[in-house]
Amino acid sequence: MAAVKLKAVRKVYSNGHVGVEGASFDIADGELLVLVGPSGCGKSTLLRLIAGLEEATAGSIHIGDVDVTHLEPRDRDIAMVFQSYALYPHMTVRENLGFGLKLRGHTEAEVASRVQEAADRLELGSMLDRLPKQLSGGQRQRVALGRALVRQPKVFLLDEPLSNLDAKLRSAMRTEIARLHRSLQTTMVYVTHDQVEAMTLGQRIVVLDRGIVQQIDTPMAIYERPVNLFVAGFLGNPAMNFFRGSLSGAASDHSVLRGEDGAELAVPSGLPTGRSLVVGIRPEDLQRVDGASPPGNIRLSALVDLIETVGNESFIHASVGAWRIIVRSSPYDLPPLGSTISLQVLPERLHFFDAESGERIAA
Ligand code: ADP
Repeated sequence: MAAVKLKAVRKVYSNGHVGVEGASFDIADGELLVLVGPSGCGKSTLLRLIAGLEEATAGSIHIGDVDVTHLEPRDRDIAMVFQSYALYPHMTVRENLGFGLKLRGHTEAEVASRVQEAADRLELGSMLDRLPKQLSGGQRQRVALGRALVRQPKVFLLDEPLSNLDAKLRSAMRTEIARLHRSLQTTMVYVTHDQVEAMTLGQRIVVLDRGIVQQIDTPMAIYERPVNLFVAGFLGNPAMNFFRGSLSGAASDHSVLRGEDGAELAVPSGLPTGRSLVVGIRPEDLQRVDGASPPGNIRLSALVDLIETVGNESFIHASVGAWRIIVRSSPYDLPPLGSTISLQVLPERLHFFDAESGERIAA
């Protein structure tokens, strides 16, 4: 087990493309850290840099007390699990699990006992004599995990390990990985583009965009206080509603955000007026109301144009002038299409961002 430290890590590919820029963060010993972001944001590059499959152009990487920046992958004491499983097709599960250990010169007894332990842990005991082609996708991924496990590395690196599985199996395996981490207490770095996987698995999450770390924190801290528009729009499904406009002071107790089409949203006063800004409201923070709402709450009316129901909840798509919004709602009390609904939101649930820079503005 070991902590991992990245200092000002930069990766420029040979074609001049910058894959990662200025990445500096620490992964605590025993932590499960998730790297998340859209395709092409640099998460695999970052993981491969830690693994040693790519060499950093600048900066340094430490695993434990060792500066591994220029070490070969085999000298870093890490084990990696890939999306593609990368199993040897002509070897049995047992051979696949033990092969890496044999190469490293472990005794046969040691190999056998570690293989058995991994097989027990991952419930692969009855499959040890099968070939990969005789396994389901989920079982193959468990073998890939097992192969990392037998190595007893200081750090596990997992690159989109569940992407090839169907939705149901993916969530089952997600739970299995969380349990595995809890029992092993080994440092894990997990790459995914899937925000649900990131939120549920990560003790902390690193959100990346265009090669640059945007925010590092616990899932809920990021969800509650995204540092910029990119992070606000990336985490959360349905995504946060954005109201873009310019702010003017209207009354003593509130200001008015005016959209391009003249639509208005009352917001608490205190923000600098005359500037372009984006107000963000999560779909679950918009509540339908019939009568009056407590003083201080923000009120708005919206025209319903579409409703999606997914069993336990519904998403009401509506418009407030030219602003398009989604409201999370119970499926048992839905408004008719074309009707106007009244909504309220607690002022402390509003997020404010500078429209130009995208940075969060403190309310
Ligand atoms: P992600 O894992 O987030 O999808 P990657 O880390 O694979 O993203 O890639 C980050 C960026 O670097 C992408 O724009 C990708 O096209 C580019 N890239 C990745 N590998 C190479 C390479 N070997 N040469 C040049 N550019 C690369």
